Amino acid sequence: MLQIKNNNLKFTYVKSLKDNYIWILYNYINYECIIIDPGSAKETIKKIKKMKLKPVAILITHCHYDHNRGVDSILIKFPFIDVYGPKEAKDCNINKILTNEKTINLLDNKFSIILTPGHTAGHVSYYCKPFLFCGDTLFSGGCGNVSNNLYKEMFNSLTLISLMPKNTLIFCSHEYTLNNLKFAKEIFPKDKNINFYYQKIKNKTKRNIPTLPVSLKIEKKINIFLRLKKILKNYKETNLTEFYIFKYLRYKKDKFK
Ligand SMILES: [Zn+2]
Repeated sequence: MLQIKNNNLKFTYVKSLKDNYIWILYNYINYECIIIDPGSAKETIKKIKKMKLKPVAILITHCHYDHNRGVDSILIKFPFIDVYGPKEAKDCNINKILTNEKTINLLDNKFSIILTPGHTAGHVSYYCKPFLFCGDTLFSGGCGNVSNNLYKEMFNSLTLISLMPKNTLIFCSHEYTLNNLKFAKEIFPKDKNINFYYQKIKNKTKRNIPTLPVSLKIEKKINIFLRLKKILKNYKETNLTEFYIFKYLRYKKDKFK
């Protein structure tokens, strides 16, 4: 798996539930760690103990249970850690509700809080160069589903992520890459980048190798939700917009099995 050191940080992960990733970022000098979106606790605690890590915080991206169901049990084992998250997830024992904070300091690094609504109204992402923990906003080869008609919000959130540095590493919360690329292939069967990447991911998936994290540079080549400008150029109708195409693709994806 791609491993990038940023100052003093490294990452590891735990697979949870059906296809969730619980990301753990740690300072490899003092072994302090943070846990992102723990949907379950048992395997997370086991991993932390095995690696002799000392948790200092949990970061929650949004209110869905598969991202925070493990918080209570982790707090029983480690009662003094901070739990950060948006107000919409306040019922899962968040003791540091994010309101207007732009940054938080963790693991001797600054983390930016990026508002990324769309999948849920209060969804947030956490960025500490080059690591981006974006929950269910951007997936490799796709994006999260949209709740309560928040299409414009999701479109804006994806635009925001697409403008980040190319070397940004995307840590999404689910292993959906193969299915996303199957959909992309159906929409653009002759696209060389998508076909090439699909084969690569198919082989990785077969061997049970995680397809994440992935760089934004790669995503911009293979993720149709980040290629709306290019797609738009293929249409002669002048009244079409990137947002219209985004909505159309998202509708189609919702129906794709
Ligand atoms: Zn979700």
